[in-house]
Order: sequence, then structure tokens, then C-alpha cells
Amino acid sequence: MKITLDSPVNKYYVQTLSMIFFPGEHFGKKGKPTDAAEEEEPSLYVRSEPIGNGVKAFAHVEWKGKIRQAEYAAEQSEGRSEERTLKLAVGGAVLAAMGELIGYRPAWGMMIGVRPSKVASEMLDAGISKTRTKKILTTDYLVIPKKAALATDIAVTEKRIVGEPSPKDCSIYISIPFCPSRCTYCSFVSYTSKRLLDLIPQYLVRLKEDIRENFVLADRLGLRVRTVYIGGGTPTILDAEQIRDILSHIASLTDVSALDEYTMEAGRPDTITEEKLRIAKEYGVTRVSVNPQSLCDEVLCGIGRNHSVEEFFRAFEDARRVKIHTVNVDLIAGLPGDNFRRFSSTMDDILQLNPENITVHTFCVKKSAEILRLNADVYSVRGGDAGKCVDYSQIKAHQAGYIPYYMYRQKNTVGNYENVGFSLPGHEGLYNIYMMEEIHTILASGAGAVTKLVDRTGSYTEARNIERLFHQKYPYEYLAEDRSQSFAEIAERFYREHGLL
Ligand code: SF4
Repeated sequence: MKITLDSPVNKYYVQTLSMIFFPGEHFGKKGKPTDAAEEEEPSLYVRSEPIGNGVKAFAHVEWKGKIRQAEYAAEQSEGRSEERTLKLAVGGAVLAAMGELIGYRPAWGMMIGVRPSKVASEMLDAGISKTRTKKILTTDYLVIPKKAALATDIAVTEKRIVGEPSPKDCSIYISIPFCPSRCTYCSFVSYTSKRLLDLIPQYLVRLKEDIRENFVLADRLGLRVRTVYIGGGTPTILDAEQIRDILSHIASLTDVSALDEYTMEAGRPDTITEEKLRIAKEYGVTRVSVNPQSLCDEVLCGIGRNHSVEEFFRAFEDARRVKIHTVNVDLIAGLPGDNFRRFSSTMDDILQLNPENITVHTFCVKKSAEILRLNADVYSVRGGDAGKCVDYSQIKAHQAGYIPYYMYRQKNTVGNYENVGFSLPGHEGLYNIYMMEEIHTILASGAGAVTKLVDRTGSYTEARNIERLFHQKYPYEYLAEDRSQSFAEIAERFYREHGLL
């Protein structure tokens, strides 16, 4: 796609907006295209100019012989920055021109970020009322009313749960990047082959050293560990003794009963046993995830999940028998082979189980180009049945007494829809909020894990500074990681430089 900007607006922002209408497009040409390719390739021209107390933008889009043009003006009001005003004007013009060309109105309007509730949080924080916030999202950001309400409600809930973030809080993340087999849609780095699974014992030795370092570091920095999250991959790929080994190690480093939340993700039902869950409970785990994604065997088979619906019900019952305080169930809307009938029946059956948390993701393809391939089969830019499924999950969860408490968006989801965590009151997954909203420091260990040092002093909506420290992505590399400059030294420097120590 060709984009010409006669405006100081951020080019990446315009590209991301364009991808809503033209998923899989590339920007910037490689080599000289043929005439035929030129004709197929959409082109966009954007111009902007200051007017009075704001900005006016103009967009001109051409594709397959069709031309559409639109103008949009945005005012710099209600504490809005110049940059945001410019983005609103350009976003409005691009959305209007492209929307008319394709015949599509995106549900999230020009909100393209990972955290749709962040804009709502900022407005609420600036003293703007909840009603007015929803109104601004619909009129200025062109978000459809039900999504504006969702973003605002989640912002209010998050604010209530987080309260006043303390710079002296942190969470601990532990990565187990191994799975029993590979799901076809997976974009995580997770080892699944026999040869690589043989690395687990070695991996756990190294992981335990890093976990120890992180607890010692938290202590040295004067931080209170609020939550611990063991994620994957599939943590329950570990056998019962390995799980005991890791959990008893953690229990030797901290008083787990003082944690606000202790999650072991578990994950794939085919790896979960009652024995493993009993060990988790014995060592203080308060939250597990048992993830079916769909309750249709045909869909599960199609996405290579390698477990059955029956195995999910068995694993869920195990979690109930063991009396884990909070059980989360992950579902995906818009899976290949799924449709509204199957998804709605999945959602109904899950609600019958009454899990404390339900997280509904929108199917996300690994590469944006795959959306094009899927488009040819079942999807359109609108995401096929995915939107209906997402709506259904939100209506049904609400009717069953769940509240949406956190939300994020990913690139390349079908229809550009969101991922939402629902909770029965009092069971909200705290780590999810702390991590997604960058509320406090996360000290991470394991392959692919990222430590985030957060200085949030003085602001609820935006951390002043964040420094990320990356562990090697693959377990092999992680085992060989150079530890000459330890994360602990960097973290101490960060805390000292930001006056937090
Ligand atoms: S269980 Fe999750 S992490 Fe593992 S392969 Fe499947 S999608 Fe990927």
C-alpha cells in the first residue's frame, strides 16, 4: 500500500489504521511493481492543517478504480494534547474515506492501541464524568457505543481494584515455555518436541536460581510482592514432582499466604491431573486456568489442541474437587471451523459451570497475511461470526453476574475485536491488570520472560518510566544466557535513579 503524508502525523499510526481495512498490506515497495500490481494496490494521501483551536485533516484513498475522499476536524479541548488532536483529525478523515470505500465501520473506530481502556482512564482521571467519557469515545474516537461503554466500565473497575498504585509493590512472573504439542494457531515460543522437552530438568534448575534472585531483589529494593504468576506455555506439562519442586522453592522464598493472588496457569486440560492441582493448593496457589478454547471437538481437532471436550470437563471438575479459590476458563471467539452456533453453545455450557473467571479472546492469526487467506474462506474484514460471538459472550457474561475487569487488543485479530477478562465480583485476576496496565514492576524469570521496571509515581494512567529487561526467547538460549550484568544491578540503578530506593 502506498501512503503519502502531507502532515506531521505519525506514519505508523496511519499504517495501523489502514490495516483495519486492508489487513496483510505491506507498506513501502520492494522492487518495481507491475502495472497490474499498481492497480490492485490501494493508495492513501493525507493532509492536515491547523484551524482555530484544532486541526483539519483530509484523506484521499484509491483502490481498484474507486476513489473516496473525506475531511475531518478535531478540537484541542478537555486537556487534549496537540498530538492527540492531530491523530483524531487524521483518524477521522482516514476512517471516513476508507470506511466508505470498503463499506465497513470498525467497532473500535480509531482506537488502535493495545489498551482501549487507557484513553477512558485518562479522561476519568482528568475529572471527566463517566457519561461524558463514553460520549467522547463515540463522537471523537468514532467507537461504537457498546464498545465505548465497555472501555469506560473496565476503566472504572480497574481504577477501583488498583486504588492508589504504590511504587513499593511488585509482582513475580515465572515462565514455563513448554507444551505437550503445538496448537496450529500458536505464536508463542513454546517447546513441544521430545528432544526439547528433555531440557525441562535442566531448565528448572536455572529457573529456580532466577526465581530466587528475583525474590532477593524484591527484598533489597524494599518491594512488597503482591502477586505471583506461573505462566506458559503450559505449566502443568511439568510432572507432579517437578511442580512440587518449583512451588516448594517459591514457598521457601516468600510467605505465600501473604500474596494477594498466586496463579499457576495450568492450561491444556490434557496435562492437568488432580494430583498436580492438589500440590498447587497445598503450596498456596489461589488461581488456575483450565483452558478449553472451544467446547466443540471438531473445532479443537481443527486447531490441533490435541485434547477433547471431555478432558476439559474432567480437568475442571478436578479443580473444583481440590477447591482452588479461582478457576479461570479461556475461550477463543472466531476460531477456524467455529461459528456462532458452536461458540454460543460453548459459552452457555461454560456459564453453567460458573467458573470465577472467563477470558474471551478473539482469534489472532500469526501473520497478518493469514487473515487474507482466511478471508477467502470464512472471514471478511469484518471478521465473519467473530463479532457476533464476542457480543454474545459479553451479554451472557453480564446476565450471569460477571463483570468485565480487564481488556486488551492484539494485532491481527479477526475483525479487530478485543480480548476481555470477566470475573465474578471479588475474583478479578489482579496480575492481569497489574501487567496490562503497567501498574507496578514485574520481576520475570524464564525463557521469553520480560522484567518490567515501572516508575509510576504520581500518575494512575501513565507510568513515568518503564525499563524492560529481556530474557533470551528460547530455552536453549536462556540456559546459555550471559549473566555478566545481572538484572538485579540494572534494577537497583533504575530504582536509585528514579528516587524510589
Ligand atoms: S497450549 Fe497455548 S502456548 Fe501451548 S502450543 Fe497451544 S496455544 Fe501455544
